[in-house]
Formats: sequence, structure tokens, C-alpha cells
Amino acid sequence: MASIEALRDKVRDVPDFPSPGVLFRDLTPLLADPAAFAGCIDALASPWHAAGIEAVCGIEARGFIFGAALARRLDAGFVPLRKPGKLPPPVVEVEYALEYGADRLQATAGALQGARRVLLVDDVLATGGTLAAAHQLVGRLGAGVAGAAVVIEIEALAGRARWPCDVPLHAVLHY
Ligand code: 5GP
Repeated sequence: MASIEALRDKVRDVPDFPSPGVLFRDLTPLLADPAAFAGCIDALASPWHAAGIEAVCGIEARGFIFGAALARRLDAGFVPLRKPGKLPPPVVEVEYALEYGADRLQATAGALQGARRVLLVDDVLATGGTLAAAHQLVGRLGAGVAGAAVVIEIEALAGRARWPCDVPLHAVLHY
């Protein structure tokens, strides 16, 4: 398995993107490297092999890449959580606050069929608003969240504080 440091070497830091003052963690070099991509999926999967995960929900857009690969590794189905207007009806949605304004996340009604062990996946946990909204959306779909997996947790932004403390949240890399 690739070491954590080998994975970290494949993350590119991009200052002032997408806006001034933001340090963006770019995961495209990691995805482009076969060993690093495989090692990252191994590391994402490792806490969940015996967790009875029924479905993986990936958050648009980079959560689709990691989530779909992780779903295969865990022999689970994959359900996309999407930005508004992308999924055909019927959909279930949640609205959540951004720094400026609000956004929505949608899923196909009935997609989780009452699953009790859903794993949420995204590339980065920053302020935690997106992952908290995804948790709420799975609840509205009548399903239960077993945990969440992210490639990067940006600890300074304290996103974990917005996540229910009794539900496991696993990050591969910590910044
Ligand atoms: P949050 O809601 O936790 O503030 O932001 C998380 C969402 O924003 C994730 O869906 C993630 O894709 C995106 N995001 C925020 N910061 C970064 C970053 O530095 N790098 C990448 N790749 N995505 C980010």
C-alpha cells in the first residue's frame, strides 16, 4: 500500500484559488498516478471493510470519483448526491448555507431503499457544511448513515465540529 507521505506528495497546493486567500488542495495529480490512486482507495476503504456498508453516497463532483471506486472496493452500490437540476425527478433535497448565499444537494427519491449503513464520501472536508448537508439528505431519504470518508481534512476549518460526534468520520490526510 502507498504510504501516507507518498499520497501527500501527490496533492498540489494552489494559492488564491478559486478566490484570493484560499489555498486549494488539488487532488488531480494523485488521481493521475496509478499507484497513488490505488493507495488512496485502499486507505479510504480500510476502516470500512467489516462495517457492512450497503451503499456509498458520493458528493458532486470529486466525491463521485473517489466514491465510485470505493463502492466497488466495498462491494456496495453507489448513489450520487448532486447539485440542483442534474437529476431527473423525483428528487429529495436539502438546502445548506455557504459563506455567501446557499446551495442545494439532491438525490433520487427511493435511491437508498431504506439502507441502514450508508457511507458518505467526498474529496475534502473544509468547513463541513457540505458533508453535514449530505448527512441530512440521507436522513430525508429514510436511510441511515454509518459514517463518512474523505481524502483530506483541513483541520484549521474545524469541519468535524459540524459532523455528529457519534458517527465515525475518517480522513486519509490531515492538513
Ligand atoms: P465545505 O462544505 O466542507 O466547506 O467544503 C467541502 C466541499 O468543497 C467539498 O465538496 C470539496 O470538494 C470542496 N473543497 C473545499 N476546499 C477544497 C480544496 O481545497 N480542494 C478541493 N479539491 N476541494 C475543496
